[in-house]
Amino acid sequence: IDRLEQLLDKFALPRQKTVETPSIAPTESGMRRGIANHEFFLVYQPQFELATGKVIGVEALLRWQHPTRGLIHPSLFIPLAEKSGLINQLTELVLEQALGQMAKWRDKDITMSINVSPTTVVDLDMPEKLDAMTAALEIAPEKIVIELTETALMENVSLYMDILTRLRMKRFNLSIDDFGTGYSSMQQLVRVPFNELKIDQSFVRQLIKDEECRAVAQMSVSLAHGLNMQVVAEGIEDQETFDWLKELGCEFGQGFHMARPAPAHEIEELYLS
Ligand code: C2E
Ligand code: MG
Ligand code: MG
Ligand code: MG
Repeated sequence: IDRLEQLLDKFALPRQKTVETPSIAPTESGMRRGIANHEFFLVYQPQFELATGKVIGVEALLRWQHPTRGLIHPSLFIPLAEKSGLINQLTELVLEQALGQMAKWRDKDITMSINVSPTTVVDLDMPEKLDAMTAALEIAPEKIVIELTETALMENVSLYMDILTRLRMKRFNLSIDDFGTGYSSMQQLVRVPFNELKIDQSFVRQLIKDEECRAVAQMSVSLAHGLNMQVVAEGIEDQETFDWLKELGCEFGQGFHMARPAPAHEIEELYLS
């Protein structure tokens, strides 16, 4: 574990997120208009069991179809949404669309992973809200996975502890997203009631080239298994990486090598029928 922490520290600086240039940055008023005009929608990326190649779930990923700028990815607008408070409206919209879709896929043997921002987890009374929504739609809570980034989580573990425990008690799954990017101490990690860990794509994508990335992946897998969590690798872009991860004992994965995010009807046609 010390070795894992050392490695992650070493990676932390060069891997910090880049800042988008203001000229293409969306505005708060633009987002408000976009929400009112229903310009936000979800695409879904399949998740695979590496051993069998079977689709075991999908992750819902938000998109903004801007009337003049075209398709905008979440890294460009989620930070602004979080700062302006619009994230609550976006989360509502995401939950409605994702759960609505899941109701249509009720008879499929898949889970639905949903990304949530830390602020919404606190503001929206998430456990009760999710419970009510899934019950109304007759979706088993076991089929829903709530993803929270490691960075968000570790900024205030004790604040989220209560809400996360309540979510688990209601049988929703909890996943630590972007694991390896959040400077978390392993002591804290042990305390959170998560049952899934997602290895960040920055490690997965360098796996073949970089021995230390392989070490991070390998140690993340053993750490997760030691804590009774299942592991998902994100950003698998080639067969070699796929094979490596399978060999390491990583059970699940997603990535462009297997499938890109796509609208629900395409996912259904290609992977669920
Ligand atoms: P994430 O949750 O870690 O999602 C994985 C991101 O990696 C997605 O980008 C996905 O399209 C991309 N990806 C998947 N496989 C590959 C691959 O093999 N290679 C490469 N290069 N990329 C791959 P996306 O859709 O742009 O989302 C970026 C981030 O935005 C997400 O990271 C998530 O943190 C956030 N996000 C997405 N949807 C939502 C949402 O509904 N609510 C909130 N709060 N955040 C969201
Ligand atoms: Mg995610
Ligand atoms: Mg991630
Ligand atoms: Mg990410």
